[in-house]
Amino acid sequence: MISEEEARRRVLQSVGSLRERIVPISEALDCFSTRDVLARLSLPTFDNSAMDGYALVASSSKKGTRLRVVGEQPAGIDRELRISPGEAVRIFTGAPIPAGADAVVMQEDTTREGDELVVNVDVDSGEFVRRRGCDLAEGQKILERGERIRPATIALLASQGFADVTIGGQVNAAVVSTGDEVVMPGKKLGRGQIYDSNSILLQALVQRCGASVTSAEHCPDQREPLVKAIQRGIKGQVLVIAGGVSVGEHDLVQSTLRSLGAKIDIWRVAIKPGKPFLFGQANGCAVFGLPGNPVSAFVTFLQFVRPAILKMMGANNVNLRKVPAKLTVDLTNEGDRPHYVRGRVENGTFSPIGRQESHALFGLSQSNALLRVAVGDSLKAGEIIDVQTWD
Ligand code: AMP
Ligand code: MG
Repeated sequence: MISEEEARRRVLQSVGSLRERIVPISEALDCFSTRDVLARLSLPTFDNSAMDGYALVASSSKKGTRLRVVGEQPAGIDRELRISPGEAVRIFTGAPIPAGADAVVMQEDTTREGDELVVNVDVDSGEFVRRRGCDLAEGQKILERGERIRPATIALLASQGFADVTIGGQVNAAVVSTGDEVVMPGKKLGRGQIYDSNSILLQALVQRCGASVTSAEHCPDQREPLVKAIQRGIKGQVLVIAGGVSVGEHDLVQSTLRSLGAKIDIWRVAIKPGKPFLFGQANGCAVFGLPGNPVSAFVTFLQFVRPAILKMMGANNVNLRKVPAKLTVDLTNEGDRPHYVRGRVENGTFSPIGRQESHALFGLSQSNALLRVAVGDSLKAGEIIDVQTWD
């Protein structure tokens, strides 16, 4: 049995970043940039109006002033208008500010009388003018190498006129759940059988990483179908198998992988839940064998599989987000493995939730954070601890 840190180190050492590719920005959501991207335009790109109203010279437009309306400036075309004190230009949101104007008065604060405008409020210089570059300067970094591309990142790239972006390679993952007792949802459940929750869980977790799931299938504890499922699965970059990695007579995953020439780098890690974790490589594919218990599969996925997938995709940070929280109960770990306690972070506090057993899927479904309690640790209620979150 190796330590969790050693297992993580070995997994991350064994996988490399995939070759970068250029995609339309609309296809880049949740991928990772492989380049630093600099702004090529200032934002806003020109001084423009924040309101529908009138552009004017603030110093000559005190409350009650009458101004002469000398033109109209819509958005979308620059009429290159110019005004002097005592004049105003009808202007619309997003339209370029005429030369000489330094403020906009809202339409609602004016009275229009033919070609004349009465200003009903005092106007300060700069009011309702969005200055060129006030949001973003040309040359400023807008996206970092290894950074996750989020909806707002895509919007920012679009605002710069970038149609494409260079991102890390696509990870294709196959998921296989094993077990003679396991039946697919939708089928009739016999006595002693359970529904397959692992393949759908792992499929969702892989997708949450931003990777693609090429197949998610179930396989009985029989050599032949397992051989076929593994052979299909190792055509991609990642194969995740759940169940059958332990030591019972029906646990065929490890021996089947070996018979297919896989190199097993890790088997058994000091982590609770999740001890019978397996990692190896076959045909250039990273193969993960996770315990069949759903909570163990979940925890080992987040601790070992997720970082590997993110590294392949080009991420610069493969860790789960850590947030500080105040512990609401005492927690000790008298065991010989670090314990990942499932719980809920809410309003700055962390409370364990549900049964802390590896089959307890309901408790897991209610949780949104993991607290790692190291061997020998004795944490007290009220302490501020860091928890890992995934939602
Ligand atoms: P195993 O790792 O195959 O020994 O399975 C450990 C436990 O996880 C057993 O109680 C299994 O019934 C359960 N289990 C295995 N596969 C699944 C699955 N796909 N969905 C839900 N539970 C499972
Ligand atoms: Mg099994």
